Amino acid sequence: MPAKTSKRQPARELLFGNLWEYDPAPETASPQLQSRYQLFIDGKFTAPKTKKYFPSISPRNEETLAEIALAGAADVDAAYAAAAKAFPAWSKLPGAERGKYLYRIARLLQDRAREFAVAETLDGGKPIKESRDFDVPMAAAHFFYHAGWADKLNSVTPGKTLAPLGVVGQIIPWNFPLLMLAWKLAPALACGNTLVLKPAETTSITCMKFATLLLEAGLPPGVVNFVTGAGETGAAVVNHPTAKKIAFTGSTAVGKSIQHALAGTDKKLTLELGGKAANIVFEDAAIDQAVEGIINGIFFNQGHVCCAGSRLLVQESIADRVLAKIKIRLRSLRVGDPLDKNTDIGAINSQKQLEKIRELVDAGVNEGAELYQPACSIPSKGFYYPPSIFSGVTLSQHIAREEIFGPVLSILTFRTPEEAIEKANNTAFGLSAGVWTDKGSLILKMSTELKAGVVWANTYNKFDPTSPFGGFKESGFGREGGKQGLLEYAQLI
Ligand code: NAP
Ligand code: MG
Repeated sequence: MPAKTSKRQPARELLFGNLWEYDPAPETASPQLQSRYQLFIDGKFTAPKTKKYFPSISPRNEETLAEIALAGAADVDAAYAAAAKAFPAWSKLPGAERGKYLYRIARLLQDRAREFAVAETLDGGKPIKESRDFDVPMAAAHFFYHAGWADKLNSVTPGKTLAPLGVVGQIIPWNFPLLMLAWKLAPALACGNTLVLKPAETTSITCMKFATLLLEAGLPPGVVNFVTGAGETGAAVVNHPTAKKIAFTGSTAVGKSIQHALAGTDKKLTLELGGKAANIVFEDAAIDQAVEGIINGIFFNQGHVCCAGSRLLVQESIADRVLAKIKIRLRSLRVGDPLDKNTDIGAINSQKQLEKIRELVDAGVNEGAELYQPACSIPSKGFYYPPSIFSGVTLSQHIAREEIFGPVLSILTFRTPEEAIEKANNTAFGLSAGVWTDKGSLILKMSTELKAGVVWANTYNKFDPTSPFGGFKESGFGREGGKQGLLEYAQLI
């Protein structure tokens, strides 16, 4: 609520910053955390054979939330053995029966939505309004969607049916822990596979909470196994001989190392990797709408988004106007406690990621781009970074080429559609892009010529389980979502 609504002067606020004062509005639902989380193998919570645990801290205030089991090679082995044992019965279940489990999981997640949202925000740092309104409902939507496919696997490709691959190894990153888990589990289970999944080291909690939900749903033991740990545990998941397929979401560097490791084996592989998307604004676009799309495109989830619109390409004739409007909008963003319902930009996921963002921003300044950061108060404990924009960026600069994975926008200009396409495609990545224009024909031209797995027109960051998502070039291969995503977990017979 504004402090004194009647005396506010909006024009002054727009010029000099955010004069609104808000009372704290913390989300109060309990995340129902345990002090220690074991591995989830064969339907049981199991202590790791390594006897080791590591802390999961909250980037919100650096407090330890829980201890997480560290899975070693022997634990990964046990997880694969459980998945292999569960495969024959699970894969032979009629699709409609498998679908019932997926529906049940989706509904149970809806029932416990607030609890999961708070846990996700505490462990990962994203604003509660995002985990509440996006991550958790979208995760449930993926289970609902794939539940519907489980008994229709003979309708995906005419004349053929989809048969499972066997045991699948899955590895996910920390930016959308629960949602990435849903993207991985739901299609794999619908097709009749069993699986071993490793969440990211900094965000294991919602994955382990999800195990309790699988037990509630009565999922047969061994169908889903969770092993927690860092890169070494991930490598054990990738290299295990039982895996028929590896599905990886994460950085391009690790994706490449997995591709090397699997070369010469008969394992299937999908890689969902990094991005450096161009968000392209033409002079005839609805500017205010585009500015909202630019802000959402880069500051959603603190910019920890593989498809973030991190390179703004704006037509030269409107560049000054757009820049001025972005600066005004930046001053109204609220940075701070992610548990507060009014927070727009929460905590950076880890100290390591915060340092990476600082390094890349320093590189941008040293290379001559102009940095703007609005004045904003940042909590003294925890990992936070102000929303930042660089103008006058050129394509050769690090901030135009490397994935920053933080709340930092690089702004470039162009004159013609051809120049926009050339600049947008001049990157090693190819995950997503945005186009803002009033002309339908220009949208068609751009979406045809942009080398990106997803092109949003006059909107940004729109997701739906029916819509396949994935990359070109160093953004990886394979698709998640829609029919195409199902095909990645099946063989056609
Ligand atoms: P990351 O460092 O590559 O880690 C991803 C996962 O791989 C984590 O679980 C990680 O474990 C594990 N890992 C690390 N080294 C491994 C190895 N040698 N073998 C097997 N697994 C290994 O990526 P991140 O920093 O967590 O995530 C951010 C990246 O993910 C960004 O580049 C982003 O663009 C990308 N991403 C892509 C998509 C997409 O759909 N294309 C979606 C979301 C994110 P630990 O973290 O526990 O060490
Ligand atoms: Mg954490």
